[in-house]
Amino acid sequence: MKGLWLLLVLVAAAKAEKVFTGDQVIRINVQTEEQIRLLQALQAQEEWELDFWRDPVSTELPVDVRVPRSSLSPVMEYLGAHSITYSVIINNLQEVLDEEKAEMQRSQMRERSTRSFNFGAFHRLETIYSWMDTLVAQHPNLVTKQEIGRSYEDRPMYVLKFSTGGNKRPAIWMDTGIHSREWVSQATGVWTANKIASDYGTDASLTSLLNTMDIYMLILANPDGYVYTHTNNRMWRKTRSKNPGSACRGVDPNRNWDAGFGGPGASKSPCSDSYHGPSPHSEIEVKNVVDLIRSHGNFKSFISVHAYSQLLMYPYGYSCGNVADQPELDSVGRAAVQKLTSLYGTRYKVGSICNIIYQASGGSIDWSYNVGIKYSFAFELRDTGRYGFILPANQIIPTASETWLALKHIMEHVRDHPY
Ligand SMILES: [Zn+2]
Repeated sequence: MKGLWLLLVLVAAAKAEKVFTGDQVIRINVQTEEQIRLLQALQAQEEWELDFWRDPVSTELPVDVRVPRSSLSPVMEYLGAHSITYSVIINNLQEVLDEEKAEMQRSQMRERSTRSFNFGAFHRLETIYSWMDTLVAQHPNLVTKQEIGRSYEDRPMYVLKFSTGGNKRPAIWMDTGIHSREWVSQATGVWTANKIASDYGTDASLTSLLNTMDIYMLILANPDGYVYTHTNNRMWRKTRSKNPGSACRGVDPNRNWDAGFGGPGASKSPCSDSYHGPSPHSEIEVKNVVDLIRSHGNFKSFISVHAYSQLLMYPYGYSCGNVADQPELDSVGRAAVQKLTSLYGTRYKVGSICNIIYQASGGSIDWSYNVGIKYSFAFELRDTGRYGFILPANQIIPTASETWLALKHIMEHVRDHPY
């Protein structure tokens, strides 16, 4: 009887989850400005329900689009009619998602039998939250877990604070997973938190850093979205707030900050994946971070981690002009990426958001820079589109390990250049 109940529960859960059978992810190597315009027109119409993994914005980066099975033929016709060539990167998205889920289940079994946390696996929110308690228990003199507020759906938002004492020492902020479907971001956050805790006391440079500075990590910056990617829609990016007058939910939490809010590169449509929301900081998840940063008042670096594309960026996104600190941020970024590349040869591009990807307003690091946090950076982690958002779990540890070298370089620079 118990087995039957479990089966029914599983069937019900499976029914709620969106499937992507036959959906393809295609890549278009954009050649001309005219093609960008044509693809932007495609993006503006909502009928075909296209999901742009990488937006049509420049001829520098390819455009990746998930095309629902039902829209394949009109899309191919459109591209053909305009002589736009493409290649298929993922032939059947559901197959890749099934494999990802199977791998998660295998890992859970291993974790249960070995009673250990697998840093090379993706985890659900509850598992990450309970692992945080384990980390705090293992390093009680270094790590604390603090609730900075609740999400729209009333989940706690926890930061891990790494501190060896003092009152509001100069601090480094790092958030991961503000876009919920970018799973390697949250997984990198988990690995990095563990790395910081385990290397304190053995790594001389990190130890000296933590003797004068604090590090704050918000690993699940969009908890509702993250849960939703596990239960209902693996491709969910936004928050889960309700939009009055629309059936579409959620706001892009990285278009919601009070920095060029509502400008180019953000959508006014609640159904868009880059919807900026009704007003700056309308999303409680964003407001919680803003309130913490403001009340603390001594953050020197603000690092936000996304995926994918392999980029290290600095402000601005909302404007293409250079910020005052551009030369320094650029040279710190380049040196950080050199360290990153030294591990496995993974190649990154460095530049301002606007110049390297696209004009995007309302982003977190533009806000942090404008409130006086000079060392504001955003990462786009692996890969460059072979798997996109569905990066296999066996790349988590390599991704986190190489990223750590870049993070450490930035943190050391912040330590050595007080301002
Ligand atoms: Zn993102």
